[in-house]
Amino acid sequence: MRPPMLTARSLTKHFGAAPALDGVDFGVGPGESVAVTGPSGSGKSTLLHCLAGIMRPDAGEVRLFDERIDTLSERRRSHLRRTRFAFLFQFGQLLPELPAEENVALPLMLGGKARRAALEPARAELRRLGLEGKEDRRPGELSGGEAQRVALARALVVRPAVVFADEPTGALDQATGDQVMGVLLDTVAGLDAALVVVTHDPRIAARCTRTIEIRDGRLSGTPRPGGERTESDGFAEAGRPADAPGAGLPKRQPAPGAAPHSGAGPYGHESVAEVWR
Ligand code: ADP
Ligand code: MG
Repeated sequence: MRPPMLTARSLTKHFGAAPALDGVDFGVGPGESVAVTGPSGSGKSTLLHCLAGIMRPDAGEVRLFDERIDTLSERRRSHLRRTRFAFLFQFGQLLPELPAEENVALPLMLGGKARRAALEPARAELRRLGLEGKEDRRPGELSGGEAQRVALARALVVRPAVVFADEPTGALDQATGDQVMGVLLDTVAGLDAALVVVTHDPRIAARCTRTIEIRDGRLSGTPRPGGERTESDGFAEAGRPADAPGAGLPKRQPAPGAAPHSGAGPYGHESVAEVWR
């Protein structure tokens, strides 16, 4: 097996009393795609955010190749997210006032490329994803599937090492979702990149090279220190009881000027404004 490029050891993250992540080990190598599954509230997005340097774990470590990335400054993590990583979320990721081609060119321009030099690869990527002729459309003038392909083009235009996707087809009908997922898997394989994709869809998980399941912040099958996990731990498929720690916390407000967030997640950090902040 080829050595993993992104690895995490003993990741732990608390928001309240109960851990959202509780000692997770993870590794993904080039050309590999890992589906992250598990009930709602089990820690899937938190894992993704810790792996991607959006969020800092309370304990444990994350490495990209040999470099420890969880301890980097916010500025350096932000640079890493723009240059080595790519993100695909369920909603709310395109800037509504920009035409498709500028949305795609954005990460390149943020990386210092001149507008014209950034637009060229952006248009090529849109063409590759079957969006020729739609370069000037604003997100509101595109179908859901087209908008998600624009978001995909923007994720891939930087030639990332790792693509993080959080329920990327959750808002699409099945045929469109399958198409978007097919393009995502093909491109990631073509770039020899790694893909970490949170999904509820067993069909998507089946197309990935590997599936992991998270329950209550732990990889399924990982015994809890001091005892075996049993059903009487009380973690139902539907997630945590309403009186669990963390339930009923206020929603996090989007940053001023951030793109409106319409994601399904409770805390609003599934938007690209967070990733590039
Ligand atoms: P999933 O993506 O599997 O649905 P999350 O990773 O979003 O789950 O959440 C895991 C747990 O952490 C949940 O109990 C959730 O309420 C809590 N949580 C996640 N993000 C935050 C946050 N920013 N502030 C407080 N609690 C959070
Ligand atoms: Mg989530």
